[in-house]
Amino acid sequence: MACTELRLAGTEPESIVDGRGIRYTIFVQGCPHNCPNCQNPQTHDFHGGTVTSFDTLLDKIKQNPMLRGVTFSGGEPFCQAEALADLAVRLKAETKLDLTIYSGWTYEQLLQKHDAEVNRLLSLADYLVDGPYIEAQRDLTLHFRGSRNQRVIDLNATRKVGHVVLDDLDEE
Ligand code: SF4
Repeated sequence: MACTELRLAGTEPESIVDGRGIRYTIFVQGCPHNCPNCQNPQTHDFHGGTVTSFDTLLDKIKQNPMLRGVTFSGGEPFCQAEALADLAVRLKAETKLDLTIYSGWTYEQLLQKHDAEVNRLLSLADYLVDGPYIEAQRDLTLHFRGSRNQRVIDLNATRKVGHVVLDDLDEE
């Protein structure tokens, strides 16, 4: 049976820092990565946050015609891969919005999990911002990410050509 709710830390209804355009960002609750100097330590506890229904989130998303997309951030979205994949299915069916997902794992590490729900969630996303936040590589000039090791991957192009294609945001 499809999931109908997820555990989240909070939302940002009109973010301009979590991917292209104006985005509704969902910060999921729970993260195992413990990146030093993480900006969102309150999202780490897997038992924290609040459980929220997909209907509540989708109602709010559909109310804003200015949105270009939705972003799943964290916390670690891929720790709730099944629930987020089910939400992404509804998002794609009920809106024309694109989907960006952040992860503390790299794209290659996500693929190496060989986890059906992780793969399903990846298959529904348009962009992946991958890798942990590394303080020593912090760079405030980067678009949509905090440290130079992190990549913004164009997943549609990546799936098409069979190797990682970056979204060249820094050229804009
Ligand atoms: S992956 Fe994100 S939320 Fe998790 S510890 Fe690292 S910076 Fe913090």
